[in-house]
Amino acid sequence: MKLRLDKYLADMGLGTRSEVKQAVRKGRVQVNGQTVREPEYKTETETDQVWFNGQPAAYREYEYYMLNKPAGVISASEDPRERCVVDLIESRKRKDLFPVGRLDKDTEGLLLITNDGGLAHRLLSPKKHVDKVYYARVQGRVTQEDAELFRRGVDIGEKKQTLPAELRILNAGEISEIELTIREGKFHQVKRMFHAAGKEVLYLKRLQMGPLRLDESLKPGEYRTLNTQELDILC
Ligand code: URA
Repeated sequence: MKLRLDKYLADMGLGTRSEVKQAVRKGRVQVNGQTVREPEYKTETETDQVWFNGQPAAYREYEYYMLNKPAGVISASEDPRERCVVDLIESRKRKDLFPVGRLDKDTEGLLLITNDGGLAHRLLSPKKHVDKVYYARVQGRVTQEDAELFRRGVDIGEKKQTLPAELRILNAGEISEIELTIREGKFHQVKRMFHAAGKEVLYLKRLQMGPLRLDESLKPGEYRTLNTQELDILC
């Protein structure tokens, strides 16, 4: 892709557009070993070797991060008051990152952070019915009747009942542990499904979205880039 040099550098998080323009004019940027002083110089993002302040600055059109979202952070790119999931990605270069879908502020677990709108659309489109798997701790004894109810579909106050969902009871007691697979992404869907069954979700964590599984070595708040295998199955 052809891109102006100042846009290239700003996209890579090396400064604002005017800061990187100044840097270019001052001779701090080389392309293929030659100092280039024109911010409008057209770089070829795939093949040109760009150096900024003596460091290589390869271009990345897309970034993909897997975050284990911690509780207390909102699923947004920016917010004037609250801490956002994108703020947690300290090594990010691109400024146009966003979370693919939303988890409630108190929900933990898998969140994909990227600037790839096509991938986000494929994962979030209501028509695609991409599976989402959640682990939850629920107040009260979760039963096979609840599993049957979720399999048939639940009235959560929307126009239609929920699509068939698969409830796996891991541990039934005063506080039950379950895994639930849903194929939609309605607002507060898991909590509302249990509410319809007369139960309250105490803790919720997303484990999987489509083929992407949370790397359990990531503690809440930690993240890593997607590996090539994960990118292959998603993109
Ligand atoms: N369902 C919920 O109730 N909350 C979430 O964060 C995700 C799914």
